[in-house]
Amino acid sequence: MPAADQKEADSRPAESQPFQADVAKLLHLMVHSVYSDKSVFLRELIANAADACERLRYEAIAEPRLLGDDVKPRITLLLDADNRSLTVEDNGIGMSRAEMAEALGTIARSGTKAFLERIEAKQPDDETALIGRFGVGFYSAFMVAERVEVISRRAGTEQAWQWSSDGKGTFAISAVAPAEAPGRGTRVVLHLMDDAKSYAERLGVERLVKAQSGHVPVPISIVEKAGSAPAEISDGAALWAKPKAEIGAADYTDFYRSIAGQFDEPIATIHYRAEGRQDYTTLLFIPGARPFDLFDPDRKGRIKLYVKRVFITDEADILPRYLRFVRGLVDSADLALNVSREKIQESPLLAAIKKGAINRVLSELERLADKEPETYAKIWETFGAVLKEGIYEDFERRDQMLALARFKTTASGDAWRSLKDYVGALKTNQTAIYYLAGDDMARLKSSPHLEGFRARGIEVLLLPDPVDSFWAMPGTGFDGKPFKSVTQGAADLALIPRTDAAAPPAAGAEAAVADFLGFVKATLGDAVADVRASDRLTDSAVCLVASEGGPDRALERILAGAGRLASASKPILEVNPRHDIVVALAKLGDADRAFKEDAAHLLFDEARVLDGERPADAKLFSDRLGRLLGRGLR
Ligand code: ADP
Ligand code: MG
Repeated sequence: MPAADQKEADSRPAESQPFQADVAKLLHLMVHSVYSDKSVFLRELIANAADACERLRYEAIAEPRLLGDDVKPRITLLLDADNRSLTVEDNGIGMSRAEMAEALGTIARSGTKAFLERIEAKQPDDETALIGRFGVGFYSAFMVAERVEVISRRAGTEQAWQWSSDGKGTFAISAVAPAEAPGRGTRVVLHLMDDAKSYAERLGVERLVKAQSGHVPVPISIVEKAGSAPAEISDGAALWAKPKAEIGAADYTDFYRSIAGQFDEPIATIHYRAEGRQDYTTLLFIPGARPFDLFDPDRKGRIKLYVKRVFITDEADILPRYLRFVRGLVDSADLALNVSREKIQESPLLAAIKKGAINRVLSELERLADKEPETYAKIWETFGAVLKEGIYEDFERRDQMLALARFKTTASGDAWRSLKDYVGALKTNQTAIYYLAGDDMARLKSSPHLEGFRARGIEVLLLPDPVDSFWAMPGTGFDGKPFKSVTQGAADLALIPRTDAAAPPAAGAEAAVADFLGFVKATLGDAVADVRASDRLTDSAVCLVASEGGPDRALERILAGAGRLASASKPILEVNPRHDIVVALAKLGDADRAFKEDAAHLLFDEARVLDGERPADAKLFSDRLGRLLGRGLR
């Protein structure tokens, strides 16, 4: 053992230290409410034991002495009904003192913060449903135990350590005599609460293990009471290596839950063996619910890479970021076991596996879209915002991703529309695919920009996700039709006839309106690039649009918000020349200048508010509004 550890072992008494704040919160939740099904704790402890065995197997490739004579991985459950205890023991990698303090005093799991925030904010999802989708890990032991001891010896070291806690805010770590510890690996002892004492009885425990951990790739034995012989209850055979015909839906679900740490049902399972130039097996799942780390900034996937049944890493980026919600594993028969993780990453064999895996996932999505549209709609509902990242990130597969994409549109109602549907419903003379991007579906639907399009029966894609502003750009298109933002440039709508009963132009008003627009432009000065009459509007008086060459208004807001734009370009104020208020203001002619100036500013502010922005100047806005109200009350 390292000298520092030895010194600590000699001198440090067990002294209690507090849990990190997030752990304390999680523990509190665990003890005081939540899981309707407390038995998930056993799955978590068995999963950890199996992980520890897999990590040892991997480290032992480079350092075989770590295994010594004890080469076969195993997990043993020891029951002691008399003392109301359940012990989960493994001969895996074990933990040093420092690893213990880190692993069992903090939470590194991604998505934890988001999870705790949502629980605290009591968002609409029901709390238990939320928790059911979040694997809580080791700390779930405190749902059934009033005290937990973890005794562990790191592979290749002498000194063993004991961690213990009652889950009420602190834990203690102390050295233990070698005879009290497993030869290698970790022993987790649960002193069960009175109402959890059935977890020390064989029948129930055995049934539970078979039901929820039957496909953990390490054999599991049970020791009924101190002194009895261990009986194997699960053989640790790799599920993914079995023929598909022998695997039932429940087996897949069980395996999915243990590999993904989620408790939902997978919505699709992709299991195949590729043979030929390379031999590898892939078992992938599309979850039925969003994993908690879906929108974490690192956008990491967690597909596990195995080589000949040995777990290597879950950081090999087997699938691209836009498929990060997929869970599962790839097991290669050809990659060399004796090279480092880094070398494996560079291997052309792995590159070929990755390509095969992406294509397989995408073709399964295509198959579902075609053959099981309802299932596909559910997948899109859950993961569409992530899949759309692929449209601009995966240039090579852009057309494929566009074909997979589904949209809400001005014509879709509650259903989803594909671009193929859209292009099939183009109006005469319509040459572009129109879209409106923003961050809020309700505001998108009521945007004045859509009025002219609605009046002509032209469908517009409504794009509520931040990612939409990045892929829906001028210069890209689908089926030869370019994407075009309805907030950008001239609307080009004059060529397409209106289908509603258009208001007759106010006779003789055109010249006066043109003068009024000139007046508005002079009044607003530098705040706008231009003021012009609009084809886009039928009911509203005003809206803001971007110039033809500049970024779409929604994209501009995102870039400006991220500090990526020195100065946002000036918008164009479009005015509806047939609108009653506009016509009436125009009729005022040269009279009432001050009132018209207020009106010009207020129209501009109105357009900003409709876009989800604030008035240009809050104080001036309220002064002007006050004067206007005063005038109305006079
Ligand atoms: P996770 O398994 O997602 O990392 P857990 O809360 O289940 O989260 O476990 C936390 C950490 O504790 C693990 O990452 C591991 O480092 C350590 N750990 C837990 N159980 C064991 C074990 N049986 N052997 C070795 N390390 C373990
Ligand atoms: Mg775990």
